[in-house]
Amino acid sequence: MLGTDFFLAWMTLAAGTVRLHRDRLTGLDAAIGDADHGANLDRGFTEVGKALTEWPPTSPAQVLVSAGTTLIRRVGGASGPLYGSFFRQLGKSLDVPATPAGFAAAFASGVLAVERLGKAAQGDKTMIDALAPAARALTQAVQEGADERKAFERAARAAEEGAKATIPLRARKGRASYLGERSIGHEDPGAASSALIVASLAEAAA
Ligand code: ADP
Ligand code: MG
Ligand code: MG
Repeated sequence: MLGTDFFLAWMTLAAGTVRLHRDRLTGLDAAIGDADHGANLDRGFTEVGKALTEWPPTSPAQVLVSAGTTLIRRVGGASGPLYGSFFRQLGKSLDVPATPAGFAAAFASGVLAVERLGKAAQGDKTMIDALAPAARALTQAVQEGADERKAFERAARAAEEGAKATIPLRARKGRASYLGERSIGHEDPGAASSALIVASLAEAAA
């Protein structure tokens, strides 16, 4: 069910939604960072598309590891290595064939890789605030027997709520943390982009 084509579709949809929301993401980063998040990710996912066309992957793991490696190489900002590690770890942890339960576990392992690399936890006002709730929602949905479409939709909702919940938080990691109290009242750009990436996962399964 979750074959190579599904993961290619996810990356294509993610690139499309990042392109569509590029200016909003950069605007969020203008408020509490250096106004490059949308541009960083748009460039990164465009390069992901090129790499996946140039070296066609033959397994889900290859799609995700190639995407992750490309993001690490091509995105200048903090988000490149963080998203890159997420996709690489997700790819490396995926069972063959990829089942919804296996995917949920691999997704959680990808989030853990981001937490380790960024030394961030939920509540620090980062992408973790969207990714960690998505991982939990995914695991719970799969345990309750939801099919993958429903499970991904629940993860997407959890990520979106998690992103919005960063607004009242004070940033403790990344550039936004330099602002201290002044980071309060703005949505974290990385949490917003994570919500988009998880939403495109649900779209790929729809
Ligand atoms: P930069 O801050 O280098 O310009 P981006 O603007 O592309 O990079 O990405 C900023 C986003 O990266 C933040 O909104 C936040 O979600 C995420 N981020 C930054 N530092 C960390 C960290 N230590 N752990 C997790 N996420 C982080
Ligand atoms: Mg930035
Ligand atoms: Mg930057």
